[in-house]
Amino acid sequence: MIRVGINGYGTIGKRVADAVRDQPDMEVVGVAKTRPNFEAEQAVERGYDLYAAIEDRAHQFAESGLETAGLVDELVAQSDVVVDATPSGVGAENRALYEEYDTPALYQGGEDAEVADVSFNARANFDAARDADHVRVVSCNTTGLSRLITPLKEQFGVEKVRATLVRRGGDPTQSDRGPINDIVPDPITVPSHHGPDVNTVIPDVDIDTLGLKVPATLMHMHSVNVTLAEDVDAEAVRDALRGEPRLWLIDDSLGIETTADAKEYAMDRGRPRGDVWENAVWTESVNTEGRDLYLFEAIHQESDVVPENVDAIRAVTDADTTAEESVRTTNQAMGVDL
Ligand code: NAD
Repeated sequence: MIRVGINGYGTIGKRVADAVRDQPDMEVVGVAKTRPNFEAEQAVERGYDLYAAIEDRAHQFAESGLETAGLVDELVAQSDVVVDATPSGVGAENRALYEEYDTPALYQGGEDAEVADVSFNARANFDAARDADHVRVVSCNTTGLSRLITPLKEQFGVEKVRATLVRRGGDPTQSDRGPINDIVPDPITVPSHHGPDVNTVIPDVDIDTLGLKVPATLMHMHSVNVTLAEDVDAEAVRDALRGEPRLWLIDDSLGIETTADAKEYAMDRGRPRGDVWENAVWTESVNTEGRDLYLFEAIHQESDVVPENVDAIRAVTDADTTAEESVRTTNQAMGVDL
């Protein structure tokens, strides 16, 4: 069994913990939190050993009636690999801790690419993370674009990608984020930094991106134009994308027309936390004009990176499992099935 520690138990960390727990070849050693709150209470409720991330505040857990198993150092020492899911920038500060115990670590997309030896997406570059000690699982948007571009590149050839990212202002619990009544070019300079971030996992693709922020919390929306190497029939692209394990080609008959519909569908299916782990691609939107492919896809920012973290754990610790085997195992265990 691969023993996994989770440092940072927020939006991403708690989802990764549950996904790891569900894997046949992994176990959760414990989760580290800075302070007691409802998420800490839920971690204990779910049976995870709780570790204090900050020594000076460790006493707060006992005062709140929550038993801890020790300090984060002990969690790192016992783990075969640590998933760092702390806020942007904190992961880089934690790197020294993981090095001290010689424990491989995964970081999240909010960190600079330089924090790690390799940036990771299971579909694009699984093998690049083999045996790496420090791996960055790229952001929600970069994950979504990488899952889409890689099969297009393999099957049709890609000359140029242009994508406009209409980004949610904040996650549902981020009450201090916005805008609440505006449409904000973000960043205002174009092209945006998202394209170069895709190049950290797919170095040889020509991609320009633009970013906006809107008053929404549910999902991001990508408006994508890909110039392919040759004229391609839209149905051939749809068929190719349908065969991809983490692309959900939304069946027109479902009447899913908005991100809210997609989220509602995930909740109706009993998905944990209403998560949509796949890129939600509107099949009707997949169209071609000569070599130019157009489509809309929605990305659930809170959850699409979760199966990628699970695969990154295997890439780092399990030399025998191929990318395809890992993705299949992860998907089966989590119920990624759309
Ligand atoms: P979050 O704020 O929901 O969770 C972070 C958790 O880490 C919180 O519980 C916080 O208390 C805890 N924490 C803070 N300092 C810590 C420390 N020193 N040690 C241990 N824990 C600490 O943040 P998140 O949304 O889960 O984001 C985590 C990372 O994932 C960031 O790099 C972010 O950019 C990336 N990411 C976030 C999203 C998203 O939409 N939420 C999507 C993809 C990637």
